[in-house]
Amino acid sequence: MAFVERMTARERTMAALRGLPVDRAPVANPTNVATVELMDLVDAPFPQACQSPELAARLAATGYTELGFDSIMPYFSIIQESSALGCEMQWEDKDNWPTVRMYRPIWKSADDVHIPRGILEHRDMLAITGAIRQLKAEFGDEVAIIGKTMGPWTLGYHVFGVEPFLLGTVDNPSETMRAMHKLKELSVLFGQAQIDAGADALTFPDHATGDLVSGDYYRRFLQEIHAEMAERLPVPLILHICGKTVDRMPYIAQTGMASFHFDSKNDPYEAMAAVDGGIGLVGNINNPETLYARGPEEVRREVYRCLDAGVQMIAPECAVPLATKIENLMAIPQAVKEWAELNV
Ligand SMILES: [Zn+2]
Repeated sequence: MAFVERMTARERTMAALRGLPVDRAPVANPTNVATVELMDLVDAPFPQACQSPELAARLAATGYTELGFDSIMPYFSIIQESSALGCEMQWEDKDNWPTVRMYRPIWKSADDVHIPRGILEHRDMLAITGAIRQLKAEFGDEVAIIGKTMGPWTLGYHVFGVEPFLLGTVDNPSETMRAMHKLKELSVLFGQAQIDAGADALTFPDHATGDLVSGDYYRRFLQEIHAEMAERLPVPLILHICGKTVDRMPYIAQTGMASFHFDSKNDPYEAMAAVDGGIGLVGNINNPETLYARGPEEVRREVYRCLDAGVQMIAPECAVPLATKIENLMAIPQAVKEWAELNV
């Protein structure tokens, strides 16, 4: 019997996020899948595509129209809120990510943390909410629109600088918590604005990565705040943390978030065991080697391994390198459909 799709991309993604049955695993992109090739195709290059709602929407739509993914995500970077807060920016060019100049932090202590009135009207915030509104109107019935709001840990890196922020967690953890509780209000404000604009789900990156902090740090500083986010933001949340995270997955599984976007540094079988059904998983096709440097055959092998392990949604592990070949990205939905065919 041949495999037949019975759900729209949107139905499939939302069902998977809610832990309901699906016709096949959705191919989602909790983080960026735009590439230079796609920017050229629709004439929506970086950094303008990170600043204009029209260009952001046009570039993001290619994830669905060209690549065949089951979701659209118009927030490509991790810097929109930090730019709106006044961090010094390096906007770069078409082939490079815009970044925050973290060696020039804007704040020193929790007392400095404040969210300016009218921040949602900043160009770099409107780029995202405007793009979501446009995408919702154009594609909202067929495909899931995923927004993204940065967590307080990542915002802390940007506004305090990575080193001062991490030193602060050792020297004065209660001060760190005070800063985090103030910063989390921006996560909620921007997340809710995207929901109001039509986002079906939100990615919640909070880079407490394995190479910088321990699993115990996650439990102490973040687990409770993440649980609060899952309660306050009324759509499914997809937590994103890069790197080796299997030691914190049991804690992540208790936050009430819908899904965890995990890195290829974690084995899919081990990850499924670590979350033990407490949260869905999305991932974890390797970027630097497989998607960037290898071909569709290697992509297929990794997709099959995730599906065999029971990973609920398939995606690149993190924002893809901007020079990734689209042929390799298109191989992801192809492989998912072939696997479904074999497993009817
Ligand atoms: Zn990442």
